[in-house]
Amino acid sequence: MTELAPPPVTGCRGAPILKERGQREVFCGLTGIVWLHRKMQDAFFLVVGSRTCAHLLQSAAGVMIFAEPRFGTAILEETDLAGLADAHEELDREVARLLSRRPDIRQLFLVGSCPSEVIKLDLSKAAERLSAQYAPRVRVLNFSGSGIETTFTQGEDACLASMVPVLTETQERQLLVAGALPDVVEDQMLDLLEALGIGPVVTLPARSAERDPAIGPNTVFALAQPFLGDTHAALTRRGAHHIAAPMPFGEEGTTAWLAAIAREFGVSEERFDAVTEAPRARARQALARVSEPLKGRSVFFFPDSQLEVPLARFLTRECGMEAVEVGSPFLHEAIVGPDLDLLPAGPQISEGQDVDRQLDRARAARADLTVCGLGLANPLEAEGLTTKWAIELVFTPVHFYEQAGDLAGLFARPLRRRDALRLEAAE
Ligand code: SF4
Repeated sequence: MTELAPPPVTGCRGAPILKERGQREVFCGLTGIVWLHRKMQDAFFLVVGSRTCAHLLQSAAGVMIFAEPRFGTAILEETDLAGLADAHEELDREVARLLSRRPDIRQLFLVGSCPSEVIKLDLSKAAERLSAQYAPRVRVLNFSGSGIETTFTQGEDACLASMVPVLTETQERQLLVAGALPDVVEDQMLDLLEALGIGPVVTLPARSAERDPAIGPNTVFALAQPFLGDTHAALTRRGAHHIAAPMPFGEEGTTAWLAAIAREFGVSEERFDAVTEAPRARARQALARVSEPLKGRSVFFFPDSQLEVPLARFLTRECGMEAVEVGSPFLHEAIVGPDLDLLPAGPQISEGQDVDRQLDRARAARADLTVCGLGLANPLEAEGLTTKWAIELVFTPVHFYEQAGDLAGLFARPLRRRDALRLEAAE
């Protein structure tokens, strides 16, 4: 198989992990609805929550004034409710109103949130009851986006994991790729896999309910996102086998990801090289063009998106950066282990968050670039640190060969801006 750069003598798998449990500074799992509703064309996400939840969604996704959106909020407040029976009735009424108005909806997700009135509601019972009522036209599922239980990207994980138990059974040998990718990026991936002769390939989530994959003991699956711990567990429970691989970020990550799948499907070395040679060269060229400002610079990751480990691997090995701390809300070794193997030993690996202590470490390190959530970025910028908002990384197409340059560009831009400001100040 194609030569990859050798792994470091000592990688970060097995390195001591600083585990922290304290105050967190991250968005909740409702945020995932913003990209999931674009991906799943016939799904509707009904957030059972408070006005805060409605505001979060509206400001994160933008209020769609002219088109009816595919998410909404059933607002439950203490004063609205005399008891749980009323809450269930209110929810049933809300769903009936929605489905009678919107015949295009095929999948309805009831999304739980934090308010105590909502936590008392058993949304899985409600989903079962409503599914029975509206089947076969509409499938009703539930998951939690609550900030108490989930961080920002876990909403997608919870959503996909909720779908796995209801997927139909198949004995077919197939590849399932899990993780919501923008359609254009997904198409690039499918083209590469097809050129390698790998198939059939199915995706979770699919673009519509009727294209939902079947699953079974002869399904092998690869993850396109590192934050899918529950989905990984749910797919494994259905008998599918995981192909562990580095995440497809950058030229190296994409090649290693494809190579792991190609090995599983017995693709010859010649064919693999023939298919990947040109896009690899394009990715390398794009990286060489864009990554100059990153070379020799240091980076500090706050835990936010769970993309941190694969991104640190990409930035250190493909862009010449040095990682100081790589924080992640969770470290699933079965998922990020291959990226940890490639990440050269040195950075502090941390899991979970105690935000004040981590801020102290970030201030002491004064890395050239600090990757963090929106809430921390402004105060750190005010202290003279250069920051990158982690949330942009899930809203921007960053996977596979053709996006390698754009991914490096996301990190290079704040450094170029900072360099330009310094130059101006010096003149
Ligand atoms: S943190 Fe809780 S209350 Fe706030 S928007 Fe998220 S789910 Fe709603």
